[in-house]
Amino acid sequence: MISSARPTFRFAPSPNGLLHLGHARSALLNAAMAAQAGGLLLLRIEDIDLARCRPEYEAAICEDLAWLGIAWEPPARRQSEHFDDYRTALVRLGELDLVYESFESRADINRAVRDHPDWPRDPDGAPLFPFPRLAMSVDERSRRRAAGEPFALRLDMARAVALAGPLDWREAGQGVGHAASIEPRAVAADPLAWGDVVLARKEVPTSYHLSVVVDDALQGVTHVVRGADLTAATSVHRLLQTLLDLPAPLYTHHTLLVDPQGRKLSKSLGSESLRTLRENGATAQEVRRLALDVVD
Ligand code: GLU
Repeated sequence: MISSARPTFRFAPSPNGLLHLGHARSALLNAAMAAQAGGLLLLRIEDIDLARCRPEYEAAICEDLAWLGIAWEPPARRQSEHFDDYRTALVRLGELDLVYESFESRADINRAVRDHPDWPRDPDGAPLFPFPRLAMSVDERSRRRAAGEPFALRLDMARAVALAGPLDWREAGQGVGHAASIEPRAVAADPLAWGDVVLARKEVPTSYHLSVVVDDALQGVTHVVRGADLTAATSVHRLLQTLLDLPAPLYTHHTLLVDPQGRKLSKSLGSESLRTLRENGATAQEVRRLALDVVD
């Protein structure tokens, strides 16, 4: 484990498309807050989804960051090169009897909750996993896994929460100039709101939640600065940190840039990329101001 006395920040994009202004905002805030704290900025390439991530997008990330004047401490950590680290964490959770195989597809889940309009949904809007762990025996799960059926490894959330007890995380204020001076406040974690989250799948031996927690610890990250769309996920992250005995970083969830319709910028909505802005003649200074919402 890298142990660093210096405040350590990270920017952690997924190379599944070109960066847009929302990513620039995150990266610039990380860089500014790291500089202000006299700390380090790391780059992490979150490429566990091998089907959607591409080396050319990773190259574009590096090019965009350099253009914006953002320097990071090399080397960048590429998650796809560290599947063993996530497997080790999964084994540890398994030893605590917190992980089980589920064989139901997304269609099975949707079908199961279709006639229950009040079925609870997670903070991202997906129905909570409706099939109780105890409804299938351990032997049956092992048999189906050995038979080669597709499966997801899920966290037994009720058991995990019972083991960890009540949790909170420290949330600090946002901003370039004043972040360090705002006293962090405690936010109560609510991991039960997510139900039995997926920790890994047959074809991908990890998940966003698991790898982000393992990597933040292995990289010695002390400060997580990311978009407010990930605020609710922090409940799961705090739980996994506790179960895996990992340190808890200080969090800042920054406000998101929205398009004229009020929707957060996203690759799937085709939000204008930094590359396009650059090709259309925008200067790095202009893009920095747009990304940080600087008003003259
Ligand atoms: N890879 C995530 C994203 O691109 C960010 C993860 C994080 O900062 O925790 O949205």
